[in-house]
Amino acid sequence: MELSKAIEQLTHLQKQMQVYKHAQGVLYYDGDTAAPEKSYVGRGETLSELSRLSYQLFANDQVGELLAFLRENSDKLTPLQAREVDQLSRDYKQLSAIPMEEDAAFAALQNEATAIWKKAKHENDYSAFGGYIIRIAETLRKFAGYYQPGAEPYGVWLDQYERGLTREQLDNFFARLREAIVPLLRRTQTEGKPIDITFLQQKWPVEKQRQLSDYLMSLIGIDHSRCTIGETEHPFTTNFNKDDVRITTHYFEKDFVSSMYSVIHEGGHALYELNTDDSLWNTCLAEGTSMGIHESQSRLFENNIGRSREFINLIFPKLLELFPEQLASVTAEQLYRAVNRAEPSLIRTEADELTYCLHIMVRYEMEKQLIAGKLSADELPALWNQLMKEYLGVTVLDDAHGILQDTHWSGGMMGYFPSYAIGSAYSAQIMAAMEKQLDVKGLIASGNFAPILSWLTEKIWRYGKEKDPAWLIENATGEPFNPQYYLDYLTRKFSDVYGLS
Ligand code: ZN
Repeated sequence: MELSKAIEQLTHLQKQMQVYKHAQGVLYYDGDTAAPEKSYVGRGETLSELSRLSYQLFANDQVGELLAFLRENSDKLTPLQAREVDQLSRDYKQLSAIPMEEDAAFAALQNEATAIWKKAKHENDYSAFGGYIIRIAETLRKFAGYYQPGAEPYGVWLDQYERGLTREQLDNFFARLREAIVPLLRRTQTEGKPIDITFLQQKWPVEKQRQLSDYLMSLIGIDHSRCTIGETEHPFTTNFNKDDVRITTHYFEKDFVSSMYSVIHEGGHALYELNTDDSLWNTCLAEGTSMGIHESQSRLFENNIGRSREFINLIFPKLLELFPEQLASVTAEQLYRAVNRAEPSLIRTEADELTYCLHIMVRYEMEKQLIAGKLSADELPALWNQLMKEYLGVTVLDDAHGILQDTHWSGGMMGYFPSYAIGSAYSAQIMAAMEKQLDVKGLIASGNFAPILSWLTEKIWRYGKEKDPAWLIENATGEPFNPQYYLDYLTRKFSDVYGLS
């Protein structure tokens, strides 16, 4: 094989993969937002044919040979091409590691488990679902063995979602986090000035909330000609390429804060995708590098920026213009405190910034034991409830508000939850580094987000998948991942919000 021909094939392959990704992505997005109810059958057929075609395009011997040849000649490739080959080889190895019939069986198991989980949650009946969690954990343990024979299975899955992240790092991270958060939370409850949130429980017309979304997107620098907003049950971000990113939100008439922070959170995800470098266009590197880094960007905008006093002061005049009656007797300071209220609760997705990671720790502890095969289906609810009591001090009254609340396990994902917590910790470290070089607070106060966007583009966004998470953190902050920044941030922030001395 000639090298120039092989490089041509590499480019063409990625272009074709991009075509499938684009088509599949638009169909999924359409299905979630605009498609009529009965369209799912036809869409399902189209999607399964597309996924069969894209599988055939990639998982075949010619691609295997092409990648092997390019790996042998990696010294003659540009660094970008070498990374493309590295990334594709990793995907290729993974795809061919699992016997086809086991892969299909797992897809069927996930599908079935998701349907059973929905019913179980709806009917608050754990009994039918518990066995599926165990079967999924068993399959994941087996698959981990295919990916990396001999390695500790849970660690293999952590690495899948956050390349390079180890169980040791996480054990240490969560232990330190718990040591800091639990007493801090207790102090907010015993010594903190109470926070009034009753004014939030009014009617906030959805039409005005839509106007707020447009305003917020413009404010944080989202280009409306390359990113639009839709409405779905659960907010998310999807990207077809860097010039076509979609975010969604959910409007609640009795709670404008929920959608406001969904828009800022998803906006952070969108900004990352919108600002990958042009040189990555149509390659497998043209997207965010990992779940943890992605979540660090969304949470940086949602929490570090969006829940800061400067940001609330900045947007308060706009809020008064949109909701003059509802906010007539409310001050910006009251709103700042209300959006930062910390309160242990049962549901992860509704948790505040301070208690959120405690919810993740419950899942982390259980997942480790599940994948190690140490738990039976019958033991799970009681263990969940015990950990919730231990970490958050709350009593779980039923499984629908306990172990049945999340979709992840039924969808076959274990080792994924920690990246939410890691993302929050990354964002604190990134923010601290940015503050050394920019007057971030001053920029937020004056609504000048351009320098913040440039900094993040320069340090993180432009690289897409070209670099691993650990490299990006060190590049952006000058040091390896260090959880201390997050602990300091939480202590500072909640001492301020609650007036702790
Ligand atoms: Zn997110």
